[in-house]
Amino acid sequence: MIFEPLSDSLEKALQILHQGELIGLPTETVYGVAADATNELAVAKIFELKNRPTFNPLIIHGPTRTCFEEHVLWNEKADVLAKTFWPGPLTLVLPRLVSSPLSLLASAGLDSLAIRVPNHPLALTLLQKFGKLLAAPSANPSGKTSPTQASHVEEDFPNLFILDGGDTTVGLESTIVDLTSPSPRLLRPGGISQEEVESVVGPLKFPHQNSIKAPGMMKSHYAPTLPLHLNVQEPSEGEAFLAFGPTPYKGSSVLNLSEEGNLTEAAANLFKMIRLLDRPPFQKISVAPIPLNGLGLALNDRLQRAAATREL
Ligand code: AMP
Ligand code: MG
Repeated sequence: MIFEPLSDSLEKALQILHQGELIGLPTETVYGVAADATNELAVAKIFELKNRPTFNPLIIHGPTRTCFEEHVLWNEKADVLAKTFWPGPLTLVLPRLVSSPLSLLASAGLDSLAIRVPNHPLALTLLQKFGKLLAAPSANPSGKTSPTQASHVEEDFPNLFILDGGDTTVGLESTIVDLTSPSPRLLRPGGISQEEVESVVGPLKFPHQNSIKAPGMMKSHYAPTLPLHLNVQEPSEGEAFLAFGPTPYKGSSVLNLSEEGNLTEAAANLFKMIRLLDRPPFQKISVAPIPLNGLGLALNDRLQRAAATREL
């Protein structure tokens, strides 16, 4: 459903976000589907709605540069890019601070975070009033074209609460620049040209092959230190067990992704729970079988990557 940006509908949008649900949000690039970036379950609902086959990291939106200070490690290049192009269609990837309370699923378990201040009055007002950051990828089902009008979002997601901000002015996704190493890399061309970025920070490098397509294989991607065994029905004594659905196994070595067998809840718990089990006295983490429907695809994809990383 599409709503005019009146104060009533802004209040309603804020209420939906506080309840951990999603809204359709206009930005200057394309329309986004936004969730409270501190709420794992709300973020999991984004992946569910978009039907993403993998957990791609999401861009985190804030109303000002200073809002990101408790979440990322700034450097001089990021500072000058932010001062030059924000608010605007430029996303910066920076090292994520371990103390950041943002959803681990939002950055797909990476130790970096993609951040941006959008240049749209409605998005900025909402971000300011909400007081927390928003995770917001484009509001289209995975693999489909990005929406540049509220009606495009409604066609794909008729049940979503969509704020109408008119046609997007840029109509292209944001440019993404990776600043996690000394030489900046252009991860995705977008609303700000390569030349414009280079006029501020000098020549850009290009991504390592496959680094965007397969975030799970990125060097910086969080991989557990303990071996991970998948599709385990019966864990052996002494090993950590990541269960899914009803299980007779209990105790301090067992965590359950979702006792009810709910895949959205499981996605919300995945990165957090692997981190909790990836430590002594355990020597191995066994993971229960997870069905291959809906978000189960992305869950299995991520687990398989985590299991394979040690063999590389
Ligand atoms: P979308 O929001 O659908 O426009 O897509 C977000 C894009 O940002 C994806 O291509 C992601 O791979 C990229 N992205 C988000 N976070 C990161 C990160 N921490 N490192 C590298 N790329 C990222
Ligand atoms: Mg997209």
